[in-house]
Amino acid sequence: MDAAFAHLIDGELVAGSDHFAVVNPATGAPFARCPSATRAELERAVAAATAAFRGPWRGDDAARRETLRRMAEVTRSAAAELGRLVALEQGKPLAMAEAEAHAAAQIFDLYAGETVPCEVLREGPAGRVTLERRPLGVTAAITPWNYPLATLAMKLAPALLVGNTVVAKPSPFTPLSSLALAARLREVVPPGAVNVLGGSDQVGAWLTAHPGVRKVAFTGSIATGKRIVHAGADDLKRLTLELGGNDPAIVLPDVEVGAVAPSLFWSAFLNSGQICMAIKRIYAHRDVYEPLVAELSGLARAARVGDPLEPGTELGPVSSRAQLERVAGLVDDARRRGGRVSAGGAPLAGPGFFYPPTIVADVPADAALVTEEQFGPALPVVPFDDVDDVLAQANATHYGLCGSVWTADAERGARLARRLECGTVWVNRHMDLGHDAPFGGVKWSGLGWENGRWGIDQYCDLQVVHAPA
Ligand code: NAD
Repeated sequence: MDAAFAHLIDGELVAGSDHFAVVNPATGAPFARCPSATRAELERAVAAATAAFRGPWRGDDAARRETLRRMAEVTRSAAAELGRLVALEQGKPLAMAEAEAHAAAQIFDLYAGETVPCEVLREGPAGRVTLERRPLGVTAAITPWNYPLATLAMKLAPALLVGNTVVAKPSPFTPLSSLALAARLREVVPPGAVNVLGGSDQVGAWLTAHPGVRKVAFTGSIATGKRIVHAGADDLKRLTLELGGNDPAIVLPDVEVGAVAPSLFWSAFLNSGQICMAIKRIYAHRDVYEPLVAELSGLARAARVGDPLEPGTELGPVSSRAQLERVAGLVDDARRRGGRVSAGGAPLAGPGFFYPPTIVADVPADAALVTEEQFGPALPVVPFDDVDDVLAQANATHYGLCGSVWTADAERGARLARRLECGTVWVNRHMDLGHDAPFGGVKWSGLGWENGRWGIDQYCDLQVVHAPA
């Protein structure tokens, strides 16, 4: 096993004293060792980030933008290595994993050019009142396993742009690409401005309760998000929480089934369904229900599931054994409750955590496969007759990330989509995001926003400055 991965603390690569194994989900076998931060290493990282925040970093806007541009360069030049690590530790197909590394580089570049506004609120003989943005301080960036590089970049870039410093902790399932990225960033980031620690959930808990941390930027599950709220309460830490989703897609009877089915399918199954804003439940009008189930099942059977490193693989394994067991359990429960499995439905034989894309029809609307976030390659399809009823069903949940309506009547689709209680809604597409729009959840799917200028504001305090004329 490769022991070359290290924490980045105060500009140094620190081998660490404790380690844990990282498993390749395509084989089920450990393939590398990751350092696990001790309390003392975490203290060093927070101290380094605090010292860097107090130095020239926060006052030098031009240097920070240049740093972000150089972060983009080193990330891009390491994209092949980083992508391979993502494919090995997370399981997405290699081309997608490399695309994720390039996306991280692009995020650094985009934020390097973002405006941090200074707004004039009032100007007159009595003086000038401006609204300015100030960095918050040391920011904890805690990331999940499904998009380790993209979720890290989404936090690093806005945090650094406005002058914060960062202690990041990736998921213990996928820490290696973040540590490898950190080793590259070390070449271009001042010591202490970015620290990255390998470690378990416990290291995340230490970090989010640490008095030296002013802001927590978190992407992960709702349960952990709530723990982070508790951990930060005494200190009134600033929080951005990007949490789970159970995105509904509502398919109206006027669609052309053959035309919408591929978009629906890939919006549900990309990255083996392990995307917060993937379609997690389809409600299809009874007029198109059976043809849609048949089309989706055909696409599921045709999808190429296999080794992420093999060219042509469309879907890799599920990321961990626990996740595989969860998805299998939800499908088995739906089947016991009368669900009709029309494609897939059982783990694949052989090593690794492979579960084929699975379509489950006729699932009772209150089955856990429908009401909970499966975060894996199993899609329930529920029939409906009445649009008001289905909107009520779609909204009868604590989740509120994204949703979509599929119809030949775009205007009606937009009217109905607005009634979905979600942070982002689409008509005739899903999972289509851009830097020019904020991304975040309502209800239990999150607190705050990421992306663009809305995301930047999450890493700032506002300061109102009254200056004489
Ligand atoms: P998770 O909550 O188990 O872990 C996420 C991170 O939090 C990991 O780094 C973990 O070590 C850390 N952690 C765990 N317990 C902690 C604690 N008590 N204090 C601080 N940190 C702690 O989530 P996961 O299983 O890695 O990710 C899957 C979840 O992430 C899904 O629910 C998915 O929907 C969600 N997600 C949301 C978005 C979004 O933008 N809304 C994007 C991707 C994933």
